[in-house]
Amino acid sequence: MRKIRLGISSCLLGNPVRYDGQHQRNAFLCDVLGPLVDYVPVCPEVECGLPVPRESMRLVGDPAAPRLVTNFTGRDLTDQMNSWVKHRLDELATADLDGFVFKKDSPSSGLERVKVFNAKGAPVKTGRGLFAGAFIAALLIGQIHNFGAVYLPWAATVLPFMLMVRILIWRPTGFAGSRT
Ligand code: SF4
Repeated sequence: MRKIRLGISSCLLGNPVRYDGQHQRNAFLCDVLGPLVDYVPVCPEVECGLPVPRESMRLVGDPAAPRLVTNFTGRDLTDQMNSWVKHRLDELATADLDGFVFKKDSPSSGLERVKVFNAKGAPVKTGRGLFAGAFIAALLIGQIHNFGAVYLPWAATVLPFMLMVRILIWRPTGFAGSRT
């Protein structure tokens, strides 16, 4: 029987890919769930070309469209991350995933309530990691497209288009989220 197939933030499996060369191994995910599922590990920061160890980073700016910037030298990694995300999402679309386990709080992998810092260095916890946000957006658009193709053929094109318009105009922090 086919096992459940889950994408997962690589550091949760014990892989030493964090900025400091450490990992965030989760015993439940590894020891209890691990034997029952097939994991597809993803580390956005390493896979987009950054080394281990590397400078730590955070989200800054407009919480609705934050930039990914390193903490000490202020290097803006947003474009590097986003161009990798597009390519990786195409691959994951064919990976037959049943779900994804995201590492919380990460500016790349965190799914919700990730800190976004304003110009004065004050954080608001309304962001999503760049990879996690793009993954959820792609998933929703794919689901809408599939639903439309089966039940409402005309909507298969129109609904994703309307969703993209909403993203571009209102730039929500999440699809059910609010702007700050
Ligand atoms: S980018 Fe994601 S997978 Fe990689 S170390 Fe950070 S939290 Fe873990």
